[in-house]
Amino acid sequence: MRICIPIVLVFPFVIRLDCGKEQMVRELREAVGKEVSGPAERGGQDMSGRVIKSDEEWREILTEEQYRITREKGTERAFTGKYHDFKGEGRYRCVCCGNDLFSSEAKFESGTGWASFCAPVSEENISTATDKSLGRTRTEVLCSRCGAHLGHVFEDGPEPTGLRYCINSAAMEFEEKSEE
Ligand SMILES: [Zn+2]
Repeated sequence: MRICIPIVLVFPFVIRLDCGKEQMVRELREAVGKEVSGPAERGGQDMSGRVIKSDEEWREILTEEQYRITREKGTERAFTGKYHDFKGEGRYRCVCCGNDLFSSEAKFESGTGWASFCAPVSEENISTATDKSLGRTRTEVLCSRCGAHLGHVFEDGPEPTGLRYCINSAAMEFEEKSEE
């Protein structure tokens, strides 16, 4: 009797343990499944072509200055950017995702110390947002594909647009026009 009692008592416990294990495995499988199907877009492009990366992934491909400006909405000091006084002919692409942003044909000398353009290559390639930092309201300019902060747009530019896209050089990579 002394031996029988513990076996009877232990048996249901063993069964319960096994069921628990099965349940745990099932839950784990479900969790792993979610993990695989969920953030699969990270590090690549989603259905709409937007580039989505984690902060760590951006840090890996950007310099500290590029990261500070594009991912943390920083601003480079006036007259320090590599393109404020640059006159090459070609395209300026997003330093984060390569999106076509501005043409050298739209670049003009604003005297502000930042690269200035009167229009983007296409309205679709940029997006804007209201920026109320520093106690004033400005219009922030972002890359529409990856959300990189590029700079701001002001309404004191030259004709025909009257706009001045004031862009951080560190947010762009210049690509020289190829000879055809
Ligand atoms: Zn971009």
